[in-house]
Amino acid sequence: MTYPISVELTTNPKEKPSHHKQAFGTVFTDHMFMLDYDAGQGWHDPRIVPYQPIELDPAAKVFHYGQTVFEGLKAYLTEDQRILMFRPNKNIQRLNLSNQRLSIPTLDEELVMEALKQLVLVDREWIPSEPGTSLYIRPFVIATEPVLGVAPSLQYKFMIILSVVGSYYAEGINPVSIYVEPKYVRAVAGGVGNAKTAGNYAAGLKAQDEATLKGYSQVLWLDGVHRKYIEEVGSMNVFFKLGDKVVTPALNGSILDGVTRNSVIQLLQHWNIPVEERALSIDEIVEAHRSGLLTEAFGTGTAAVISPIGSLEWQDEQLVIGEGTTGELSKRVYDAITGIQLGTVEDPFGWAVELPLS
Ligand SMILES: *Cc1c(COP(=O)(O)O)cnc(C)c1O
Repeated sequence: MTYPISVELTTNPKEKPSHHKQAFGTVFTDHMFMLDYDAGQGWHDPRIVPYQPIELDPAAKVFHYGQTVFEGLKAYLTEDQRILMFRPNKNIQRLNLSNQRLSIPTLDEELVMEALKQLVLVDREWIPSEPGTSLYIRPFVIATEPVLGVAPSLQYKFMIILSVVGSYYAEGINPVSIYVEPKYVRAVAGGVGNAKTAGNYAAGLKAQDEATLKGYSQVLWLDGVHRKYIEEVGSMNVFFKLGDKVVTPALNGSILDGVTRNSVIQLLQHWNIPVEERALSIDEIVEAHRSGLLTEAFGTGTAAVISPIGSLEWQDEQLVIGEGTTGELSKRVYDAITGIQLGTVEDPFGWAVELPLS
């Protein structure tokens, strides 16, 4: 099946940044993708248009009830000028899982893939080529029906925008200090923690603010019921190396099913390193730190790929992990995933999807 996506090219291309050290998500490309939904008609009018502001009624439901979901993935330019995306199917599937949880009509996954490919191709000259840089792809859905009633919207927009990202680790991979959050929680099972939806991030800002003031870069979230089990770090999944094995919290309904998390688990299994997905309490981590079993910890997500954790602050105690340096396994996982993303190492899983340069 082919999808006719109409394309209106800009007559006024923007100047491309000459270097790529911008703060994340500040520079957008020349075009964007749009698709509308109206009840009775379904999703319609797929189109690529010049990047521009959109007009919404002040009563649009997204502003009042947060009925919205998003995704985040990247496109990379290889040394031989091929364009690769990393496991885009996983993001498209997760987009629809988020849609279902937020009572948003699901999208045709083939159409979304086609839209991703065509939009990235239209703006391909924006993909930076310096080491560590990429094009960040942000698909999202907003509820646009202008009615102040708490009910699923009868109108939506699905859009994709693209942003140039500089090297996350321009100054090298530096382990971060983490505050284990005792007061606020991110999500509970049964809520929307496993959907990529705006409210989760708004709910986390206060804890992030307070941790920043205390001098930490991120918070480690504990579960909302027992305030004991580890969930995520900031907006990343989290892994701990305990002796010979690696442990990550199981997907329990309040944790986001990260594409990077899934890739790390598959890589570890491929390397015959035992990996466990299970409930993991902060007490177990404190105990493993005391006994010397805890040697590495890292967050995983599309933006940073791997973010090593140098220390954890919990109940006025500072747990320094691996002398605060980047661990061997963290580095190995980082090199393997970024190597596959950039097409410089073998891809035994078929994760890199090449865009046809027709
Ligand atoms: C997006 C996200 C992640 C990481 O998911 P990736 O698919 O690896 O980028 C983890 N936790 C939260 C809360 C997220 O929003």
